[in-house]
Amino acid sequence: MAKVYKFGGASVRDAEGVRNLERIVRAADSDLVVVVSAMGKTTNALERVVEALAAGQEDKALSQWVDIIDYHVAIMKALGLQPGVDVRLQGEIPYDPQQSFDENYDQVVSLGEIMSTQIVAVYLLKQGCPVEWWNMPKLLRTDDTWREAKVDDEASRAIIRAGWDRPQRPRIVVAQGFIGGTADGRRTTLGREGSDYTAALMANYLDAESVTIWKDVPGILNADPRIEPETILIPSLRYQDAVELSYSGAQVIHPKTIRPLENKHIPLYVKPFSEPEAAGSCISAEACGPINVPVYIWRKNQILITMRAKDFAFVLEESLSEIFDIIHRHRLKVSLIQSSAVTISVCVDNTRFVADAIAALNVHFNVTYNENLSLLTIRGTTPEILEQAKAGRTIMLSQTTRRTARLVVKE
Ligand code: ASP
Ligand code: MG
Repeated sequence: MAKVYKFGGASVRDAEGVRNLERIVRAADSDLVVVVSAMGKTTNALERVVEALAAGQEDKALSQWVDIIDYHVAIMKALGLQPGVDVRLQGEIPYDPQQSFDENYDQVVSLGEIMSTQIVAVYLLKQGCPVEWWNMPKLLRTDDTWREAKVDDEASRAIIRAGWDRPQRPRIVVAQGFIGGTADGRRTTLGREGSDYTAALMANYLDAESVTIWKDVPGILNADPRIEPETILIPSLRYQDAVELSYSGAQVIHPKTIRPLENKHIPLYVKPFSEPEAAGSCISAEACGPINVPVYIWRKNQILITMRAKDFAFVLEESLSEIFDIIHRHRLKVSLIQSSAVTISVCVDNTRFVADAIAALNVHFNVTYNENLSLLTIRGTTPEILEQAKAGRTIMLSQTTRRTARLVVKE
């Protein structure tokens, strides 16, 4: 049976990371799909290349691009690989001014994962590991919703299974996370941080025994260690808890990751990259019990939009479906909803789609909004914990149920 291992950008940000990946992969006792993200902050850097090109700043784009290539070349050299010989380097930036920004984005940004997996695969091969490099744009079939492509499960499953079930396949497959391709061969991306989702899809298609996400944290913690100095490891949790945590903004796994696993009861382990023997956290159908520590989750970069009916109509009764239709059409991600008789407020991720959505809502309602907000979700809250969390903060809105508090906080 197969296992799926996923290595994020932080895990492969330098040569030492790639060597550590090799040790972990070697120690595995089964056939492996190794899903790898772009190295370090490469995705962000590639985004800047596309933005610069779109703004007509070719010099800036080129110098960014050279930095990205140099970064990969340095890692290759440190691994004893010959750039241009062992791994072919992309010559030109695949940018076409005739195409939309989003389509160009996918062609350029997807190169991060192409490069990282080529380096990892060639390195493993040179170390004597039986490896095959998989080109996901040809295997993971998607539509052409650029930057947020929808996966065609049926087609992808058939292609990926056929590749996997070949008699001569090496024991280890190295595949890009985050990227796929259309039927006519264009590269697509699945949404930022989408490599976990790829790992889950691969596990689903191949009926894998488990998925392990190798991270630079000990497992799933009850708070973000970058914000809270003291955190507690949650050793086991149920799929539904994991969905809730990631939806609330916990960055440890991508929200789309759970469904493909839950469907097939495939457990998901989150383990520390630097300490492979550690138990980490396990997400499965039967956890040992409810989470019994308070969990703090921040979802940053929120905007609170409040709609008020223009003619004193009751917003809730008369306009709810209209509001949500607009929200859905503009691809807004709603993190919280609150209503009164004549207003409805939604907290959403402040993405590039928000301005158009507000314009559309403004046609029907009086719209006001506040930016630079964060949503703090506290699971397992108590009145004391809530008081502590509120202290010294400007709270724009709060919602509490028996065990969960949600605060919209001004940054
Ligand atoms: N490299 C992509 C990103 O940074 C995908 C991922 O890391 O999961 O968004
Ligand atoms: Mg990443």
